[in-house]
Amino acid sequence: MSWDRQVTIKTPQEIALMREAGRINAEALAAARALVRPGVTTADLNAAAEEVLRKYGCYSPFKGYPGPYPYPASTNVSVNHELVHGIPGKRRLKEGDIVSVDCGTVYEGYVGDAAFTEMVGEVSDEARRLVAATEGALFAGIAQMVAGNHLGDVSAAIQAYAEERGFHVTREYTGHGVGRAMHEGPQAPNYGTPGRGMVLRAGMTIALEPMLLVGTPYTKVLPDQWTVSSADGSLTAHFEHTIAVTENGPLILTTQGDGSILDGKWK
Ligand code: MG
Ligand code: MG
Repeated sequence: MSWDRQVTIKTPQEIALMREAGRINAEALAAARALVRPGVTTADLNAAAEEVLRKYGCYSPFKGYPGPYPYPASTNVSVNHELVHGIPGKRRLKEGDIVSVDCGTVYEGYVGDAAFTEMVGEVSDEARRLVAATEGALFAGIAQMVAGNHLGDVSAAIQAYAEERGFHVTREYTGHGVGRAMHEGPQAPNYGTPGRGMVLRAGMTIALEPMLLVGTPYTKVLPDQWTVSSADGSLTAHFEHTIAVTENGPLILTTQGDGSILDGKWK
């Protein structure tokens, strides 16, 4: 079935539940982010996020997610060339790495989904520019999440922001609608044409997730069958928020603050 058949319009009550899922998810990601430093393992970041979910009696929809084998952790932790879906483990972060953490939270049956990329100590200028461009691309997309706009306006804004800064966007993985399921319609690509695609309506809730690569738009799956790497081993970054289209503009659901665009930024 096409994801485009599964777009759901949420009531204000449902959006309030998704806001709580998103707030808890933001707290979990903040706990992981606070640990990022040389010597910490990717499993440590996962454990910090998981501890927050446990405190609220929540769980991550990532755990057990169907794939080549059920996904074994609550977060994805992806380092350097690893774009998404990295499995947390014994790998230790080192000075100069960039690390992405992606987490989901289910609260009262509703999902929040978000991700950040953080720099480990001093990183290269290229890594710093990549991380800034990826977060900037996310917010360029969020600014277009306005009722009456087309989804292509959102996608094109993300693509333009990334490409104007010399980076590639993946065409192989996309953002997505979110609600009772982590992956609902519509697909929200990181490339597109203004004025094309679905018209956004108040009550739509969509996870935007720019995934940028330095050397190529292409990816490959590593031997663990989950981790997605750039095809050429070049650096990658990933930011994500779950956003509601409202009568008053975009509301970022996956923050600990007021859900405004300023509130959603990591730095
Ligand atoms: Mg995610
Ligand atoms: Mg997502």
